Amino acid sequence: LSDRLSGVLDKLTRQGALSEEDVSTALREVRVALLEADVSLPVARDFIKRVQEKATGQAVTKSVTPGQQVIKIVHDELVATLAGDDENAGELRVDSPPAPILMVGLQGSGKTTTTAKLALRLTDRGKKRVLMASLDTSRPAAMEQLAVLGTQIGVDTLPIVPGQSPVQIAKRAKQQASLGGYDIYMLDTAGRLSIDDALMAEVEAVRDEAKPHETILVVDGLTGQDAVNTAENFDQRIGITGVVLTRMDGDGRGGAALSMRAVTGKPIKFVGLGEKMDALEEFHPQRIAGRILGMGDIVSLVEKAQEQIEAEQAEKMMKRFQKGQFNMNDLKNQLEQMMKMGGMQGVMGMLPGMGKMAKQMEGAGIDDKVLRRQIALINSMTKAERRNPALLQASRKKRIAAGAGLEVQELNRLIKMHRQMADVMKKMGKMGKKGLMRGGLG
Ligand code: GDP
Ligand code: MG
Repeated sequence: LSDRLSGVLDKLTRQGALSEEDVSTALREVRVALLEADVSLPVARDFIKRVQEKATGQAVTKSVTPGQQVIKIVHDELVATLAGDDENAGELRVDSPPAPILMVGLQGSGKTTTTAKLALRLTDRGKKRVLMASLDTSRPAAMEQLAVLGTQIGVDTLPIVPGQSPVQIAKRAKQQASLGGYDIYMLDTAGRLSIDDALMAEVEAVRDEAKPHETILVVDGLTGQDAVNTAENFDQRIGITGVVLTRMDGDGRGGAALSMRAVTGKPIKFVGLGEKMDALEEFHPQRIAGRILGMGDIVSLVEKAQEQIEAEQAEKMMKRFQKGQFNMNDLKNQLEQMMKMGGMQGVMGMLPGMGKMAKQMEGAGIDDKVLRRQIALINSMTKAERRNPALLQASRKKRIAAGAGLEVQELNRLIKMHRQMADVMKKMGKMGKKGLMRGGLG
């Protein structure tokens, strides 16, 4: 069976649901794992609470234990939290040239190194013309460090003029970038060993001067509980647009990633994986989630079990369809899948002959709300009615609609939709297995 098809069927075979105790027991272990990975305490606490609410009552996949199921839920939630909903997390926004990018963070976090790594990436892959400027007036060697890296990667740096303030350097960088036809200019600021007001005031002044398109907070991925404090401070005072986590080549478990994301809500854009200039990677939520949780075996075990069941269910369903069978339970499954996939491209859209109907339904404005109501209507039917929709006469309809708190009209629409779909299924059944497979499912 096609991967696409089996990939979307899963709600079907389940045994029991997760009890509050199942969830609590498993989450105790997760809590330890998170803290060992250096996720900050309040972030870990919030995360656990959220999963607790989400997981309780969820179905358990056949052949896995409740504990394993919870770990899988935790993993998925972790990935979702880390990924957020930004479509261009792995990119830097560079609007009208010359676009300023401001690099901020504590001293030693890897700002200067990351500035050069990003510049190299932008020139190499992005084919951009980049100018780098060091605003680090606190240490004499800092400006030289950026110049050396610039020479090494073939990216221009702003000439050093002794005695200028960070704001003056930022101004000069902008002028130079405009005159020189650069697409981007990067401002590498000074850091302090810990957050202090003088640092923030200096970075604020630079920000007000440069009006950066991106403000990237560079954080040492090995920082533990402090990570939250750092992120909070920089985000509140400067307003960051993204995060780069460095030293992810070390043996830290990367809990800072979750802390960063939870506290700032800003995307983690890249991770630093070494001192070399090409040791920068786009952020992969899956990878970091696995590392934070450290329970990859369990996650893949549950995934395998789910795939197995999906495949079995898809097969079962195909057999029913081939016999032309399509009752209200089948419709409910379809509707649930549509909800899960956020649209009409559920199984139905993949079946030959059904694509058109899927489009019609979409045109008719069938969204999540409608799907939810339709499912409520089916839930309000008796077992017999679901198996045999021909039973649905006036008095039964009234009872069902009332049970779902909806109008009979809406039920009539559902019944009509079911009839149309059942007709298509019957036709497909007549086409036989071969015809169906040729239709694009094989
Ligand atoms: P800054 O003070 O924030 O500008 O930090 P630097 O860029 O000067 O980096 C401080 C040290 O950390 C340097 O020795 C870098 O080579 C090193 N460093 C930066 N990023 C990484 C990374 O991703 N992995 C490792 N292992 N070292 C890094
Ligand atoms: Mg530096």
